[in-house]
Amino acid sequence: MKPHSDVEEPGYVEPASGSKRSKGCPTDVQEHAPSYRQSPQYWYPDGSVIVIAGSMGFKLYRARLNIYCGYFAERARTGEDLVVGACEHGDSEEEDSSRVEEHTTTSCANAPGLTQVRIDDLSSTDFTRFLDVLETPQLEPKPLPDSHIAASLLRAATRLDCQIVRTKATRAILAAWPDGLPRPSAPLRPFQDAIDAITLARACGMPEVRRPAFYALLRDPAFWTALAADRRAIALPEDDLLRLHEARHTLQITWRVFVLKMPGEGRADLGSVCKKIDVPMGGPPRTCQSAAKDARACWRSLIIDSDMWEKGAVDPICCMLDEKNVRGLEYVWCSECMRSARYKWFMTRRRWWDMLNRLFGLPD
Ligand SMILES: [Zn+2]
Repeated sequence: MKPHSDVEEPGYVEPASGSKRSKGCPTDVQEHAPSYRQSPQYWYPDGSVIVIAGSMGFKLYRARLNIYCGYFAERARTGEDLVVGACEHGDSEEEDSSRVEEHTTTSCANAPGLTQVRIDDLSSTDFTRFLDVLETPQLEPKPLPDSHIAASLLRAATRLDCQIVRTKATRAILAAWPDGLPRPSAPLRPFQDAIDAITLARACGMPEVRRPAFYALLRDPAFWTALAADRRAIALPEDDLLRLHEARHTLQITWRVFVLKMPGEGRADLGSVCKKIDVPMGGPPRTCQSAAKDARACWRSLIIDSDMWEKGAVDPICCMLDEKNVRGLEYVWCSECMRSARYKWFMTRRRWWDMLNRLFGLPD
């Protein structure tokens, strides 16, 4: 089911041959037949403007569009759409028809006063979804749209300068791509979603989406495999890929230096708070490993023997140095040393997250 597709349906009227814009009042109505099919949802009988997006026409209330869309308001203010009688006097050759084609259909389509606006760089799918929000009374709070619909809304709202729809779209997109420190062991998501988010953010002015989306690529082995297999399949510019490579390399080095420092290392007061460790199978409590002469060697052995040495190099910000990931940790380091390590680990993750803006070339 493709309710918003541009696939032709019965009722589609072939476009008139010849130039796109009318030149003088036609004698043959077919020559100026609409080159669109009518929207099944948004074709108001008493509408005052036909907006054409993609291959679909939407008969809407112009005054309402003027209120909510800066794009239409600006055209009304500058009188761009007030070319009543264009069929009688002809359209100006100087008008830019590459982006927007607009003319009255006063006599061309037997619809007095009806203005037509063609927006070539907006798809019918995006515009239909946009109208689903703008034209539907919001009597109850509705759930945020999914990411595909939110992307449509953001593209249309940006093109038409509509703050109401843009606010809804940005809320949904930021919910999908929160620009905050990701939680440990956050699941991977399809890397194409991140590429789409970066492209959308760049086109529609949402820089806050770029850091979480870039990091989603950096931590995803499938992305690097796909990139190595076929560069052309990754729709990102060279600058982005270069920054991703550099950021990945920097984080890997940073991780390997950090992870070899044992819990409590460099903290002078730890000796006074360090505790004994209860032995699960009974017997006298053990001394915390931090007091041992070979504590550092013990820690490094634990890290190397676990997969944290490599796992953290791939995804340092979402990797957690805790008892779940490092086997036997709770039997050799006491709870106070581990609490100190967890705090330092959190602060380090946050510092690395802050560092990503610079690594990715983003504004702070
Ligand atoms: Zn201890």
